[in-house]
Amino acid sequence: MDRRNFIRSSISAAVAASLPGTQALAASLLHTPTTVPSNIDAITGDGAEVTLQQAAVQELSDSLKGKLLLPGSSAYDDARWLLRPQYDRHPALIVQPTGSADVQNAVDFARDNSLLLAVKCGGHSATGKSSCDKGMQIDLSQLRNARVDRAAKTARIAGGSLLGELDHEAMSHGLVTTAGSVSHTGVGGLTLGGGFGRLGRRFGMSIDNVLEMDVVTPDGKLRRVNADNDPDLYWALRGGGGNFGVVTSFLFQLHEMQRDVVTGFIGYPLSEAKQILEFYAEYAEKIPDEMGLGAGVGGRLGQEPGVGIYFVWSGDPAKADKYIEPLRKAGTVVADRVTTMDYVAVQRSGDIDDTRAFTGYMKSSFLNSMTSELIDTLVDNFEPHPDRGTRFGFGVSGGAIGRVANADTAFAHRDAKFSLMSFVSWKSDTDKEEHVKYIKSHWSNVEPFSTGFYVNDHFDQPQESVNATYRENFPRLLNIKQKYDPTNLFRLNANIRSV
Ligand SMILES: Cc1cc2nc3c(=O)[nH]c(=O)nc-3n(C[C@H](O)[C@H](O)[C@H](O)COP(=O)(O)OP(=O)(O)OC[C@H]3O[C@@H](n4cnc5c(N)ncnc54)[C@H](O)[C@@H]3O)c2cc1C
Repeated sequence: MDRRNFIRSSISAAVAASLPGTQALAASLLHTPTTVPSNIDAITGDGAEVTLQQAAVQELSDSLKGKLLLPGSSAYDDARWLLRPQYDRHPALIVQPTGSADVQNAVDFARDNSLLLAVKCGGHSATGKSSCDKGMQIDLSQLRNARVDRAAKTARIAGGSLLGELDHEAMSHGLVTTAGSVSHTGVGGLTLGGGFGRLGRRFGMSIDNVLEMDVVTPDGKLRRVNADNDPDLYWALRGGGGNFGVVTSFLFQLHEMQRDVVTGFIGYPLSEAKQILEFYAEYAEKIPDEMGLGAGVGGRLGQEPGVGIYFVWSGDPAKADKYIEPLRKAGTVVADRVTTMDYVAVQRSGDIDDTRAFTGYMKSSFLNSMTSELIDTLVDNFEPHPDRGTRFGFGVSGGAIGRVANADTAFAHRDAKFSLMSFVSWKSDTDKEEHVKYIKSHWSNVEPFSTGFYVNDHFDQPQESVNATYRENFPRLLNIKQKYDPTNLFRLNANIRSV
């Protein structure tokens, strides 16, 4: 420990020891920067080895109100945690900011040293790109807060928050906005890529409700970005993923909604999969915006595979039956679970309690339509397996999602009527090769029907396929990327490569 840190931590300890009760507690919260014991080996964005000088890293540590975390502490291991257990990354250093100023210091340090840089919010990245080996990780888990302005019907959400915080705070005022279907997903990652959710057809995608963002750009500047300030960046951040900087807060538009919604699941035998999916494809064209709808074929590991339709009706409860009854007539009903439920509880109902038990691999796709040919291809190639869960899920877009033009935000799949997710999961301690091979070969059959994939679900697709999924928005995105991130500092994402 150098002299300056020794004096500072000795004073903190001495002050804490001399004070009773709450004063001692307050003193224990005095900021003590992490001591950096030696030089640190790291890598650049291009993979070259670099040595970070101890004094420079110490200066970074001293500049933070939050923490610098180095290997060897439990806080470091918690901060590098990702949802999918197959990604066990070990960054050279982790910055855990408590505000935008810390993020600016971290970004300046990463840029000046050309470091490989990862940004983590909820840690749900499909490819484990929110942490990295031997680079710097910015872990936003201490940047969690949701503040609702009831009169303005808006919510200011800190950039590291989870969806559950947004839903919980907003609904306590009788307000909502579109958020994804698992409450421990990060607001940051989900929103920047687009953001689908149970209310999307009614209130639009998450990005359609973002009025403003505070973002630290690669030059280290903190910018308030909205329709008037940096409008290009405001456009690009809504669908362009983590390519342009670190968002430290989002301002969301909220909407009035009753607390209780009618929700449920109607199940049918696997043998009727084609008939049910044909019905679903037609039915999806007829439903009002208040109906959020999904269909799935398959099952989790150990479950009897079947086919099912899920829904959330957020409209007038008296009208719910009109839209549920046709589902009961679509085939042989083997499960009928319809209930009225608190919306926030519905949003938590898909949460994963043991995130280390299973791991998985997925492919996603947008579709203009669900043709009979696609349905046949999918069902004929469905192969249940005793050691894995295999599921195909069709989400319905349209409604408010489809009333925005492809060019209005960076998200370029407004015209897609459906999204398809193919997912295999297996016990973390078993061999994965066979399952990944299966879903890849299955996917090659489905790909001809696809108009592109969701950047939030991307699974190491080749660069040309990443570029192609931004469709006609790609040239504008590339220009904006070259302007704000000319060295491609923010590259661990569905990358728009500026260099
Ligand atoms: C269980 C599960 C359920 C899901 N459900 C839905 C759903 O209902 N709807 C839907 O649309 N998607 C859904 N997804 C996909 C989800 O949108 C992506 O996985 C998303 O990236 C998760 O965001 P995160 O913050 O949790 O992830 P992280 O892994 O923390 O971040 C992913 C990437 O987002 C970027 N990023 C995150 N926060 C910031 C920030 N503040 N500033 C700048 N960049 C940032 C970084 O590039 C990072 O690599 C789901 C995923 C899972 C695993």
